[in-house]
Amino acid sequence: MIAVLKNGVEKLQQENLINWLEGMDLKVHVSEGEYHTVLGLIGDTSKIDMDLLEGLEIVESVRRISEPYKKANRKFFDDDTVVDVSGVKIGKGHFAMIAGPCSIESEEQIILVAQSVKAAGANILRGGAFKPRTSPYDFQGLKADGIELLLKAKEVTGLPIVSEIMNANHLPLFEGVDMIQVGARNMQNFELLKELGKTNKPILLKRGLANTLKELLMSAEYIMAGGNENVILCERGIRTFETYTRNTLDISAVPSLKEMTHLPVIIDPSHACGHSRMVPSLAYAATACGADGLIIEVHNDPKNAMCDGAQSLTFDQYEEVTKKVAEIRKVIG
Ligand code: PEP
Ligand code: MN
Repeated sequence: MIAVLKNGVEKLQQENLINWLEGMDLKVHVSEGEYHTVLGLIGDTSKIDMDLLEGLEIVESVRRISEPYKKANRKFFDDDTVVDVSGVKIGKGHFAMIAGPCSIESEEQIILVAQSVKAAGANILRGGAFKPRTSPYDFQGLKADGIELLLKAKEVTGLPIVSEIMNANHLPLFEGVDMIQVGARNMQNFELLKELGKTNKPILLKRGLANTLKELLMSAEYIMAGGNENVILCERGIRTFETYTRNTLDISAVPSLKEMTHLPVIIDPSHACGHSRMVPSLAYAATACGADGLIIEVHNDPKNAMCDGAQSLTFDQYEEVTKKVAEIRKVIG
């Protein structure tokens, strides 16, 4: 439920109302807009007499939020959320250019990639240390050593870093990691989401291979319900009957999510199509349709990459993409 307060309500009146609502075991989320203050009420709102609340002198209107996602709901927070990843802002006009290899392979590799993507215009470095591979016989990532190497690359370049977590027991290893990725396969690992809700780290939540946007938002809600509202959503392609591309990029996820939620939305064109030659086109489409950023796989030697080489861009290709993305952003304003 949300209660919109009248313009120019005094602080004391607002506090009294909040205390009264909290006295009914509700959590009150205050969002101060340019013209109105909106109170988001979380908990069992069935005991609230809506007419009574709406009849109060300082209340303009009261509305129930019928969708099961509350904190992530655009109705709950009317503005766009900006997530700060160690100084790099994402959302509301702030654009994330996240780039790096699928997997961290060696110190030389991750530092070279980090320096090159930074020079090309990336503002956050990605690198997988714990890899969710379909086959148990494939390279599983350098794990804790990989995180150490990623931290070195962060130190050398100053770029904030993002890496995927697969097990909440690994959280202590992610202390120096600026943003934690929940991969497509773990989007509905609810125990993991609950643990991440207890942290204050930005979470990059990828859409599951066969999940609806509503399910994606319910997963975001798990993290937010725990107190961590720093969630960035990522569309990375979904399973369809098409096999020509690795997945099918659901470009309409961007305008749809923008209606449904206030959280930033980014696109991963690399996992969406699986072919490096197609990544630039999808990146441009994502930029043009209003995404808040791109996460793109870039490798120093794609042909010999230990994971996802076929979809990884070379440094030159990535530089070309960053330039065109900047041009498109100027056009769409
Ligand atoms: C990745 O980012 O390397 C990855 C495994 O992504 P996804 O979870 O989208 O497949
Ligand atoms: Mn990958």
